[in-house]
Amino acid sequence: MTEPASVQDTAATPVPRRHRVVIIGSGFGGLFAAQHLEKADVDVTLIARTGHHLFQPLLYQVATGILSVGEIAPPTRLILRDQENASVVLGDVNKIDVTDKRVHATAGHIAFDLEYDSLIVAAGANQSYFGNDHFERWAPGMKTVDDALELRSRILGCFEQAEVIDDEEERRRLLTFIIVGAGPTGVEMAGQVAELAQHTLKDSFRRIDPASARVILLDAAPAVLPPFGNKLGNAARARLEKMGVEIQLNAMVTDVDYHGIEVKDPDGSVRRIDASCKIWSAGVQASPLGKMLAEQTDAEIDRAGRVLVNKDLSLPGHSEIFVVGDMMSLDNLPGVAQVAIQGGKYAAKQIINEVEKGKSPAQRPPFKYFDKGSMATVSRYSAVVKMGRIEISGFIAWVMWLIVHLAYLIGFKNRVTTMFSWGMHMGGDHRSQLTSTKQWVYARQAIERVAADEAAAVRTAEEARRNGTSAESDASADTAGRNTESVR
Ligand SMILES: Cc1cc2nc3c(=O)[nH]c(=O)nc-3n(C[C@H](O)[C@H](O)[C@H](O)COP(=O)(O)OP(=O)(O)OC[C@H]3O[C@@H](n4cnc5c(N)ncnc54)[C@H](O)[C@@H]3O)c2cc1C
Repeated sequence: MTEPASVQDTAATPVPRRHRVVIIGSGFGGLFAAQHLEKADVDVTLIARTGHHLFQPLLYQVATGILSVGEIAPPTRLILRDQENASVVLGDVNKIDVTDKRVHATAGHIAFDLEYDSLIVAAGANQSYFGNDHFERWAPGMKTVDDALELRSRILGCFEQAEVIDDEEERRRLLTFIIVGAGPTGVEMAGQVAELAQHTLKDSFRRIDPASARVILLDAAPAVLPPFGNKLGNAARARLEKMGVEIQLNAMVTDVDYHGIEVKDPDGSVRRIDASCKIWSAGVQASPLGKMLAEQTDAEIDRAGRVLVNKDLSLPGHSEIFVVGDMMSLDNLPGVAQVAIQGGKYAAKQIINEVEKGKSPAQRPPFKYFDKGSMATVSRYSAVVKMGRIEISGFIAWVMWLIVHLAYLIGFKNRVTTMFSWGMHMGGDHRSQLTSTKQWVYARQAIERVAADEAAAVRTAEEARRNGTSAESDASADTAGRNTESVR
């Protein structure tokens, strides 16, 4: 590994240099912050571990074959191509040094760092298994493009295997789909898996009837869509039940394995449900970068790992660091796209005020969130919408959902192709993205093993360098050998 370099220190750096804004994350918070700084007299570096801006609310449509990855995950580099003051860097941030004002990252085996004057941290959240991380192997969550492709292949793979198996019990297990978590993502997934089984795949198998698949939506809470209130939650529940989805509430998952799940009911009894395909959408945990920031400052984190920020979204004692979106905790604001978008724009605006208008951080107005409402689809032609006291369900809500999601998709071309894909889906439940591969199911696990080995090699090499020995090449060579082994 080479000495960490600063990717900002190029010959092209203007002298005297401009105010440097580093943004971590290309999700809603990070991207909107960068775009809001377009005309500002600053240099923006946006770093993210993924090269795309992911529209997470439509991930379930990739997982169930309606939309392609490209439609919901355009490359960030191309989105910001015409923004001259912005550069995009692909890298995994592993350390933020608030004293040195430096962000340390790696891109593969290359380590580099970025200096900042202002930092906007928008690294989002990961799936949470509430301390049972071993569930993940059998019940993947849905936070990334990889998750959606893996789930799509797992879902379709179950139908394929059910077609060729003779054992009736195993066939039933393969045709049982469990979605854990009855929030918006769980409801959307349950509705789409049911539609896939009953409509899209109809008449396409010879030995099984895909419509006989059992789709179970399960939650430890007593309600469907709790944040939407009773009326809309019940409407969503009724619609799902009409589609044949089994709803099991007050059901706590106590174990997940290859064969199925173990559930504890309110009376304390424990039962098993055999199912090959399990999907986890039950909770989130903020990026570990939040904890790292809290350890270096007077900030605290909550149980979900979110950073308790000041009213101006900054960290105590560090007005130059903003934390926005799913990583921040302020006034019980929910982890939704609008909180991240508005937070990102707000942080950008404060930086502009201070760099260009000479204002001081003490003059910042508190962040005010404008709640534009929440919505979730249940099935084709059916959604729920809550805007203040207005609650709508059914077709009109679905049309509203459609318009809002189209409006927030990035890029004109993506809107057009998405509209076309939706048209095909509405017209005849045609889904054009039903490709599945074994690699999407298994490769991630292999890659994670390789990455862990590689990270260990980098650590060993760094240690050797610090100690003045030359173990670096030996360690890398050794790990490279082991990597090859593990991939095989
Ligand atoms: C399946 C699903 C459905 C959803 N549906 C809705 C919905 O219908 N409506 C709604 O309002 N909200 C919805 N949400 C929530 C919404 O998507 C999030 O609130 C929003 O994406 C948060 O934005 P963010 O910028 O904080 O984080 P994210 O959008 O998650 O972006 C995080 C970014 O940080 C990067 N990153 C993370 N760690 C590192 C690191 N160490 N180094 C470098 N980069 C890093 C990631 O690559 C990513 O680019 C949904 C979420 C999911 C998962």
